[in-house]
Amino acid sequence: MEVVSDFPVLTPRSETELAEIIAKVRLHGNCTIRPAGAGHTEAAFVTQPARDKNVVVVNLANFVPPSSWDQRLDKTTGRLRISGGASILQVVSLTRPHGFLFETQTAGTFFSIGGIVANPSVHGSTFDKGRINEAVTAVRVMLANGTVREIHDSEEVKAWRGSLGLLGIITAVEIQLRRDMGVLLDYKETYYDDEKKPWNRENVIADVAETYTRFHSAEWFYNVYADMIQHVRVRYDAGVPFDPSATAASYAKELALYPNNDLVRTGGQMLLSSRLFFKLYWLVDSVTDGYFQRMLSELLMGGATSYVSEHWKENNRTRRDLFFVPASSLGTFKQLYCSIQCEADCVTDGTMFAIVNATRTWLRKQLVSPNAGFYQSMAFEWRIITARPGTQLLEHLEPGKWLGIEIITAHSVGHVPQSSSFLYDLEQIWLRNAPLKVRMHHGKASAFGYVANTGQVEPYANRAALDSMYTEDVKAAFKAKMNEYDPAGIFRGGDMMKQL
Ligand SMILES: Cc1cc2nc3c(=O)[nH]c(=O)nc-3n(C[C@H](O)[C@H](O)[C@H](O)COP(=O)(O)OP(=O)(O)OC[C@H]3O[C@@H](n4cnc5c(N)ncnc54)[C@H](O)[C@@H]3O)c2cc1C
Repeated sequence: MEVVSDFPVLTPRSETELAEIIAKVRLHGNCTIRPAGAGHTEAAFVTQPARDKNVVVVNLANFVPPSSWDQRLDKTTGRLRISGGASILQVVSLTRPHGFLFETQTAGTFFSIGGIVANPSVHGSTFDKGRINEAVTAVRVMLANGTVREIHDSEEVKAWRGSLGLLGIITAVEIQLRRDMGVLLDYKETYYDDEKKPWNRENVIADVAETYTRFHSAEWFYNVYADMIQHVRVRYDAGVPFDPSATAASYAKELALYPNNDLVRTGGQMLLSSRLFFKLYWLVDSVTDGYFQRMLSELLMGGATSYVSEHWKENNRTRRDLFFVPASSLGTFKQLYCSIQCEADCVTDGTMFAIVNATRTWLRKQLVSPNAGFYQSMAFEWRIITARPGTQLLEHLEPGKWLGIEIITAHSVGHVPQSSSFLYDLEQIWLRNAPLKVRMHHGKASAFGYVANTGQVEPYANRAALDSMYTEDVKAAFKAKMNEYDPAGIFRGGDMMKQL
């Protein structure tokens, strides 16, 4: 056992050890268990310190499932069975050298498999392919009574996708991967200026539509100082020659940075303190002069912009797995993310332009203000996500296309109040300009609001946003499932309980 948080964190190595933990917790009567992966989920979806007492956290970083579920790749079908405590990095290092890819992907490989399967708001960036946890075809779980169940029935698997640890512990998963058909990783920058290419609805939609129609997946970034959109884009069937077996050495090198699967216990953040780039963010925080603050922020934004293009190109050269944010570059971020429902495809229906344009207008107004208090220094980015019907029980996105839009700010302690107000104001702009529904992400902050007793702005404090997240029918169906699998409430804890 090791204590790395307010709660004891137990790291069982086998089903026998996990069953022993559950048995002991049950003996205590008033104790609960919460599973945790790499710990990247914002707020308290694992444990809610103010409310959850007597909690034991279980982390599967060292867990080895029975051999039929342990690192078994069927090279004919592309199905992999692996521990719920494996990192995405471990999955790609096992499967990419054999020529496999995920159908869609997160930005980086620094999450646990359990964490991305159990978080209902984890998405991807492939326009028509649904979300990353749809890759799960079966799960092996340990229930509240310590018994193991293998779930292959597709209806039942839906209950476990997005279950936030509230039904039981996902000890292993079976996932379906796709074969690489010569994937093309491409990159484009579009600059705007009043004379050569004005920023207007027609130009921006045409530029984004070029990516949307010619590629299958994309992430767009906007640099407010350069008035420029970066298009980081993928075409899966381009037939570009590549030898996947050559990727093995690059993965081995990165895996060596995380002995004992530390990535799944620390989320990768331990390597950060040595990075000069992030020390510059602390410098911005300590500067009070608005002009100087703006200048430094512009410099950092330039660095963040080149970071995106450089890592994308690096990924194209060495791995072509499309996960381009290395774990070693993670710092203390503050994030705001919203899923905004689109009337049709998000591009030609004008949703993307309406939201991006409103954000740009507001950010550019701030740039000319000498005392804005906070200047943007990291990515403002968006993706297009398809929510396919009937893929998870705890569902918060109606079927169709959604714009997944977010902004990231790096901060030191001193910077928190300014960046939180900045994120609050920005979220209000997105809420006002969204044509249809807006939903939050359980892994990245949103629903910013004022907390009554402190007067501070905090994520997940806006009750109205939380209350509209799940319909009454969804809540009732999920609660019935919780009672079926865990009648005694052994796994019940974390922020999600407020919303159920
Ligand atoms: C820098 C950064 C970039 C991000 N980029 C993306 C992105 O590109 N796309 C995206 O969709 N999201 C992104 N996120 C959000 C992230 O995907 C989610 O927060 C994800 O769930 C984190 O996985 P984790 O392993 O850290 O899980 P944790 O945060 O540890 O846990 C998430 C939830 O899953 C439950 N859980 C964990 N393991 C198990 C298990 N074995 N059995 C049952 N329940 C379990 C936990 O109880 C918790 O409720 C990003 C976050 C950060 C910080």
